[in-house]
Amino acid sequence: MVVTTDDEHLLTLGNNEDGEPFKCAVVDDSAFMVKNLVRMLESFDAEVIATAENGKEAVALVEEHGDELDFLTLDITMPEMDGLTALEEILKIEPELKVLMVSAMGQEDTVKESVMKGAKHFVVKPFQREDVFNRLEKVLKG
Ligand SMILES: [Mg+2]
Repeated sequence: MVVTTDDEHLLTLGNNEDGEPFKCAVVDDSAFMVKNLVRMLESFDAEVIATAENGKEAVALVEEHGDELDFLTLDITMPEMDGLTALEEILKIEPELKVLMVSAMGQEDTVKESVMKGAKHFVVKPFQREDVFNRLEKVLKG
């Protein structure tokens, strides 16, 4: 690894059990948040293979790519289908898929419910890069 003072390169998730970069998808109705998370996940050496902007698209994404995915980030407040409903549908398709919920402040009850329903962990917006990295390490080990 190249030692650098550039913060972007200090955090890496390493490889999955197949010895490949972790493959993931990002679901959020905010294009800005998708862009932000994609950039962040790629900086952790994960490979973002798909994105979706609402729960319905997320379910379709998992139907198409579920077997390739190591994890997925899932926003809670979205049009068409919210994150909690999408979580239930996604886990029916891929029960082992590791899901990191992305919540806004004030959504503690929904976050608790999502964890009871099978989400592995959560981050609260606005989050720091280190928060996402630390939660993902837990998600991927658990
Ligand atoms: Mg949202």
